[in-house]
Amino acid sequence: MSEKIVLVTGGTGLVGQAIKHIIDTEPEGSRFGKQPGEKWIFAGSAEGDLKDITQTRALFEKYKPTQVIHLAAIVGGLFKNMKYKLTFLRDNFLINDNVLHVSYEFKVKKVISCLSTCVFPDKVEYPLDENKIHSGPPHDSNFGYAHAKRMVDVQNHAYKEEFGCNFTSAIPTNVFGPHDNFDLEDSHVIPGLIHKCYLAKKNNTPFVVAGTGKPLRQFIYSYDLAKLFIWMLKEYDDVEPVILSVGEDEEVSIKDLADSIVKAVGFKGQYNFDTSRADGQFRKPASNKKLLNLIGGFEFTPFNEALDQTVKWFVDNYDKARI
Ligand code: NDP
Repeated sequence: MSEKIVLVTGGTGLVGQAIKHIIDTEPEGSRFGKQPGEKWIFAGSAEGDLKDITQTRALFEKYKPTQVIHLAAIVGGLFKNMKYKLTFLRDNFLINDNVLHVSYEFKVKKVISCLSTCVFPDKVEYPLDENKIHSGPPHDSNFGYAHAKRMVDVQNHAYKEEFGCNFTSAIPTNVFGPHDNFDLEDSHVIPGLIHKCYLAKKNNTPFVVAGTGKPLRQFIYSYDLAKLFIWMLKEYDDVEPVILSVGEDEEVSIKDLADSIVKAVGFKGQYNFDTSRADGQFRKPASNKKLLNLIGGFEFTPFNEALDQTVKWFVDNYDKARI
């Protein structure tokens, strides 16, 4: 049996740590578990800055991966995206270009890169599906991030057509779970609100939610997403991306989300919405039809159960969480 070495870039982040958790806990040889003879490497930026091609080559030279799950990215919520458009565009483009090109140089057998449903056009017919990525400009709030990520799909096709590479991509909806970035301003909505609510409870102050609370989102628990990445690595060999998401009927409003967080944190004080803050896109439901047809059914963790686990992780790990 030839040795399989799976390198996970961005291995120290929310999604990378979730994949590590599943690899460490699922039975060996099971559908989502580590396969016999497989070695998994979870690399963070301390192992090399992937914006730099020399450091990227050194990382690949060190581990000689046969498979790559490419998660490393500059990531953030709505407000960070609006503030750092050029940084999101340029840094993500450099990281993706280096990882894909060095994977080609090192003859990596398969690369799965990570896009996001934020890459889809602003004006588009819903639900989003895998064929609509390039059919119009992205929302202005995140055009830097979106264009850098869209290019990965273009690059995957070009590497396949010119060199026959087996490069593909996954498109997750909003992810949440342990090891997220819980920064108050720069994070995604769930970790940001969990942290705010936690502080409101601790300091006996009001819990203020940015925006109207009306937008709708699909959220996927990082441990579920991790299983889907492991499935893709084992069973999916096509250049076209796959949306990794809960169903369209599982949209949650920010108000419902805030209510659930209040409950999970045990906050009893006053809470309200700051309607002077931006809402972002109202809704952007994505279809998981392709995923379900391919995988043949998948049991997602119920939203409130996943949220409770995330809040518990944050409270238990407050001292070492990214805040
Ligand atoms: P995190 O911010 O939690 O983690 C980012 C990871 O990227 C970290 O491991 C970080 O390393 C690494 N990284 C950042 N810059 C560099 C660099 N220059 N060189 C090497 N490594 C670097 O992100 P997530 O886990 O949330 O995101 C993973 C992927 O999923 C990303 O591609 C993101 O675009 C995508 N995604 C995320 C969603 C979400 O809701 N979170 C939604 C949809 C897609 P370190 O921490 O060690 O510095």
